[in-house]
This record gives sequence, C-alpha cells and structure tokens, in this order.
Amino acid sequence: MEKLFGTFGIRRVANDVLTPEMATELALSFGTFTQGGMIAVGRDARKHSEMLYHAVVAGLLSVGCRVMELGVTATPALQWACRQWNAWGAMVTASHNPPQWNGIKFMEQSGKGLDRDKEKEVEDLYFKKSFCRVSWENIPQETEKRDIRFDYIRAIMERVDGRAIREGRFRVVLDCANGAPALITPYLLSELGCRVVSLNAHPDGRFPGRNPEPTPENLVDLTTLIRHGDFALGLAQDGDGDRLIVITEKGEFVPGDWSVSLVARELSMKPHPGPIVTTVATTHMLQDIAEQHGRTVVITAVGDLVVAKALMEKGGIFGCEENGGMIFPDFVWGRDGAMAAAYLLHVMAKYEKPLSEILQSLPLRYQVKTKITVDPEKKDKILAHIERITAQEKNRLTIDGYKVILDDGSWVLVRPSGTEPLVRLFAEAREKEKATHLVQKYLEIIQSV
Ligand code: MG
Repeated sequence: MEKLFGTFGIRRVANDVLTPEMATELALSFGTFTQGGMIAVGRDARKHSEMLYHAVVAGLLSVGCRVMELGVTATPALQWACRQWNAWGAMVTASHNPPQWNGIKFMEQSGKGLDRDKEKEVEDLYFKKSFCRVSWENIPQETEKRDIRFDYIRAIMERVDGRAIREGRFRVVLDCANGAPALITPYLLSELGCRVVSLNAHPDGRFPGRNPEPTPENLVDLTTLIRHGDFALGLAQDGDGDRLIVITEKGEFVPGDWSVSLVARELSMKPHPGPIVTTVATTHMLQDIAEQHGRTVVITAVGDLVVAKALMEKGGIFGCEENGGMIFPDFVWGRDGAMAAAYLLHVMAKYEKPLSEILQSLPLRYQVKTKITVDPEKKDKILAHIERITAQEKNRLTIDGYKVILDDGSWVLVRPSGTEPLVRLFAEAREKEKATHLVQKYLEIIQSV
C-alpha cells in the first residue's frame, strides 16, 4: 500500500495528485478517526490552498465534525489554537515546498502533529474508504469563523519582556516569503515597538519575491538590504511560518545551529529542570550549554514531529533543530517562527549589544553540511560500508544515520535521505577547517564504494 504521510503531513502536487476530491477524502478519514469533535482548519497563502481548504471543511462536516475556520494563518498559530480550545487541527500547507505543491498537516488536540500510529489509522481509513458519514440532520449547519491572529500575538507577548524590547527600539527587516506569516509577524514586531520593514509581505501563492525555503541563496534581497541600511536584525520565515532564519546587523546569515543555541542558553538559565531536546544533526553547542547549566540533552531522529513528541514525553524545556526550528513547549507543541522572533528580541534587549557580539559569547562550533547524489542501486552497499567502518569508532550513534563523535567533541553524521537518491553529510568542529576535513573524508569514502 502507498504511504500517504511524509515527515509531517501529506505533500503532493496540487490539482494533479492532491485534488479537492483527495483533500475531501483525507478530511473524511481524519474526521472519522476523531469521531466528530471540534477541528480547527487553517490554510497558508498558496494559490490552491483556498480550494483545498473548502474541500477539507466539506469533508469534516460530512462526518459530523464541528469546524473552527481560521482562514489564512501560520501553522504554529493553528497549533496554538488547537491547544487553547482543545480542538483537533487540519492545516492546508506545503510549508517551504515549491509553488505547485500543497499538503495537509493534521494535529492532535494538544496542537502537536499527529503521531505515527494515529497517522496509520487515518491512512487505513483513507485506503479502505471507510468513512462514518452522518445523516443529514447531524451535519453541523454552520462553521465557526475566528480570526485568532491578535489573540496569538498577545499570547506571544506575554512570554517575553515587552518593555525591554520596546526600549530597544529595534529596526528589523522581516522577509515573509509572500506566505501566511505576513499576516502575523510584522504586526507582532510592531506591537513589540520595533520599526519594521517587511519584504515579500503580501501573501501571494506565486511566490514572486523568493522561493519559500529560507536558505542563504534565497535571502539575497534581505541580506543586501541589511548591509546597505541601518538595521539591528533581519528575520526570514518560510511559507507557513514555523521556521525562522536570522541575519545579523552586518547582513551575515546566522546558522540555525547558532540561533537555537542562543535561545537554548537563555532558557537554560530558568529554574525549570527539563532537558533540551534536539535531533542527531544539531550542534553540540547545546551539549556545552546544557553542561554549564546542569541539564541534559535528549537526542532524537531528524524531524520536528519527533522532537515535539520527545519534548512532551520528557518534559523538556526547549526543542530545536539545526535548520533554526524552535519549539517552546509552554506555548506551542511545534516549531514556531513568530515566537522564536519575539524571544530573540527578548535576548537582544537583555544584553543590549549587537546580535553579532552576543553570538560571539556562545561556545561556538562550526558546521559544514553537504549532500551527495548516489546511484539508488548502490545506496545499500554504501550504507553497509559506512556501517562497517564506523562500527570501529569508540563513540557512534545510530539513531538516524551514522554519527561518529570524536574525543574533542567534533562529529560527523552520514544520513541517507528517505525519499531521494541522496546521502547527507553533516560535520561540526571548533574550527571550520576540521569540520570541512571530516565531511571531505566521508565524501571520499562514499565515492570510493
Ligand atoms: Mg514550514
């Protein structure tokens, strides 16, 4: 049987594979699984999101679910609403994927993405077409329409030192990727007293400004603007607002590993005893920070859903990923770009120094990341070889791929892609040259097979 769900929800090409019919059937399956109940439904700003959104709402009503319509919103805002009102969630979004893609992310009543075993149940219902449609008199007559944007913004503001941030009078450039965050984050920053210049801030599913994935290549306009202006900070989000990328006042791209470490250090000073939860591909700066503050780090496989689940189970204080994804467990059980932006300003206001200087006070490590395309027929052979040679290493982790940790704390991770004929390589060391050397060494090993 075909597998429906990826790392978080379903992603397909819209109106080709992911048609309104498919979206309705997915909603029928999800609504059958939740056995009615309240479902918060939202969408990002893609061209076909409105079409799929109505299909989802129709499917949910058909199986007797009550629907809370949030309209265009960011994924974390919807997750926040689920937790707030104990509602299940369905978000029409393809996050940072190219414009022709769309998808649906389903949430539990905590706001966390649906667990694997529950996804499996939804998947079974979908393929068996066993939907519990209700009789006509049990179809809810109306949906409940809510604009939660400003409730969500207020809830974020309660979690940071608003007065200190306002006193900082930060000039911030925010690149909204023409996505749903354009309706939220610029207003949040204004409420926090920032002077905001927003780029690509009109929601437009053609993504005229840039590709919605916040990579350095896609953020040239943002970094150029910062280099030629007088700004304290640059921020960039992806299409559905769960990720945040940070640019210093000098226009330098801040690696996700560094921005999450900055926030982790700040949260580590709190009396809360919980661990930091992160993936096997994320920086060991977190281990340094945790050690300094007498806490532990829980390591998971790659994927924000896995981090959120472990965070919940372990009672963690903070969850994060190497790509800059941050999870604040007292707020939203998923990555939250707007909350991350506010918290970063909170840190900057506290230290009263330029961001580039604050970053220098971290126990810095340097990351090198690359990927290599491999012949799909040779992928298993390559991995078997990596398995063999890394088995001799004293300190090896095999949670997700093969990670070798050396005595000085530098490490390398070889991780096959689950969906593409690719092997990803991550390395980290206190000196950039060493990280480069580690990646190079394993690239050569792969090429030699
Ligand atoms: Mg996203």
